[in-house]
Amino acid sequence: MNAKKIILFFLIVLFFTVSCKQADEPPGENARLKVVATIFPLYDFARNIGGDKIKVTMLLPPSSDPHHYELKPDDIIRIGKTNVFLFTSFEMEPWARKVIDTVADKKNMLAVETGQGALFLPLPQHHEHHSGNPSGLKENNADHAAKADPHIWLDFDNAQKMIDNITKAFILKDPINSLFYEKNARDYKFRLIDLDKKYREQLSNCKTRTILHAGHWAFAYPAKRYRLQYMAAYNISTDAEPSPQQILALIEKIKDQKLPYIYYEDLAAPRLAATIASETGAGLLKLSNGQDIRKKDILNGISFVFLMERNLENLKKGMQCP
Ligand SMILES: [Zn+2]
Repeated sequence: MNAKKIILFFLIVLFFTVSCKQADEPPGENARLKVVATIFPLYDFARNIGGDKIKVTMLLPPSSDPHHYELKPDDIIRIGKTNVFLFTSFEMEPWARKVIDTVADKKNMLAVETGQGALFLPLPQHHEHHSGNPSGLKENNADHAAKADPHIWLDFDNAQKMIDNITKAFILKDPINSLFYEKNARDYKFRLIDLDKKYREQLSNCKTRTILHAGHWAFAYPAKRYRLQYMAAYNISTDAEPSPQQILALIEKIKDQKLPYIYYEDLAAPRLAATIASETGAGLLKLSNGQDIRKKDILNGISFVFLMERNLENLKKGMQCP
């Protein structure tokens, strides 16, 4: 074989490889619903409901702080190319308004505020004061704007409402697969109901009911739901350092109540938790707010339900439950 023949041979092999590959693609590949979800809980809900009928991506990079996300022009282009844009609420993603106003192809892209109809808790009044039980559920209406706690998915009833809203959107955009979406949503909601039952039962008879959290104000929803006392070092943002008085208050609380553990967030300010722990001798336990997830964990198949189950184990350990 001379060189010309060898090249021709490879060209033919290449041609067949390429054409076989095209023939191998599933027929419905182009018909799959394109979905973009802002943060991990929504992304995970969507993939559980949509299965292989959708192609879902996450907008915010893993490990980023969603409370300070700045929308990039690329994001708007990316969202505009999808069929369904899932965001939590205008509290969590205030920039969603801009997306909705800017995306040109409104007929093709459906924007879904998945927290529509959820119960919102008010944010604590004073920046300096994070102690005490948040009280008074607020309904989702116009006057909660900017004052509501955005971490609604940590209340499993709210999570179910979000599932319903996502399912409705999928059915609207892809009615042929409505039975598939409905069945998956039902199955997933059963898992959330089961999770809620486990939390309620297993956290009912513990030695202490205090969650002391050296992270940002993210766990008011489970605290309210399971009647726990919640204290956080930071407000909604971990931008500003907590004051020395706040840190002292946390340290005193640990000593007063002889709390064996302090909770930390994986991605925000674990150093503060370590400082308080070494000051008091308390141990460290992780609590996930469901959104602070690393890329490698997503690739390893970590799910929202898994994170919530691990939280329950750590809560039981910290609160010394039977
Ligand atoms: Zn948060």
